Amino acid sequence: MIGPQASRQLSAEYSTRVLRDVSMVKHTSWHAGGAADLFFTPRDAQDLASFVRQLPPEVPLLWIGLGSNLLIRDGGYRGAVVLTHGALGAMHRLSLQRLHVEAGVTCARVARQCVSWGLGPAEFLAGIPGTMGGALAMNAGAWGGETWKHVIEVDTLDRHGMRHTRLAAEFEIGYRHVQGPPDEWFLAARLEFERKPGVNESSIKELLELRKQTQPIGSWSCGSVFANPPGDHAARLIDTAGLKGYRIGDASVSEKHANFIINHGKASAADIEAVIRHVQDTVASVHKVHLRLEVRILGEAA
Ligand SMILES: Cc1cc2nc3c(=O)[nH]c(=O)nc-3n(C[C@H](O)[C@H](O)[C@H](O)COP(=O)(O)OP(=O)(O)OC[C@H]3O[C@@H](n4cnc5c(N)ncnc54)[C@H](O)[C@@H]3O)c2cc1C
Repeated sequence: MIGPQASRQLSAEYSTRVLRDVSMVKHTSWHAGGAADLFFTPRDAQDLASFVRQLPPEVPLLWIGLGSNLLIRDGGYRGAVVLTHGALGAMHRLSLQRLHVEAGVTCARVARQCVSWGLGPAEFLAGIPGTMGGALAMNAGAWGGETWKHVIEVDTLDRHGMRHTRLAAEFEIGYRHVQGPPDEWFLAARLEFERKPGVNESSIKELLELRKQTQPIGSWSCGSVFANPPGDHAARLIDTAGLKGYRIGDASVSEKHANFIINHGKASAADIEAVIRHVQDTVASVHKVHLRLEVRILGEAA
């Protein structure tokens, strides 16, 4: 467990503000998993930079938004978790088509704001229950829309607490894949959308309605667990391998959307991960396809 030693190297202020042994159950949309040794909620980007500068370099660092694509194993995370949601929450318009969005702003807010400014296509962001930071890290997308199609540049913070402004071209971008300079995290992005006269709230409502019809919205999940393999759909492969409803403990493959795994209430991270591995093994043996994880799994087993 990282704690007393690392805390001693922080100033009195940060040592008081950093929380210890914080359960990730309420910080992940699966509502499962272990605790983070250290947990910090910054006041703003400057405060976060000061914290990172003081954190001993050997302490692993994990930034999270709304934990909607994250599983922390039951034994917990040996490092410091930084929560951006509720902290880096500024968003404003830079010009007719460009906006500045901090990492903790929800995707839903970006979508609604763009609609009210007559900009699009940002409606796809409405149903993604995460933050802009998470969307940048994952290249989140839906209905043909993708976060990085709209990124002009990003502000990042490195492990020494130094800020950088980086052009989108400095990142390797793919389907649910983003590779940038190592050990840098997203503080904010400058995004560009098109003028879309006539776009309105009903465009968002329609997409949310479509989701409700096809996905188990309201159940505890992380959305799609696996990335779609080229030319196919993970959900189709899982369904046709007979895995809908497959259950371990309180975790099961959704009957409504086979790429979702549901926590019915008391699933441990180990239950969820066991379902994930069983699905991967079964799909590999039935279809000869390896399903790549979209969800990020971190931390120690119990
Ligand atoms: C019901 C449901 C539906 C979903 N539908 C979609 C969908 O249609 N399309 C889609 O793409 N995803 C979907 N998701 C998955 C998830 O919402 C997205 O991946 C989202 O972008 C994650 O954002 P987050 O803020 O919750 O990130 P988190 O889960 O908190 O973090 C995810 C990863 O991003 C990293 N990260 C977070 N913030 C930062 C930052 N500021 N800097 C650097 N790294 C950071 C974390 O370290 C972690 O590795 C869905 C999830 C749910 C529960």
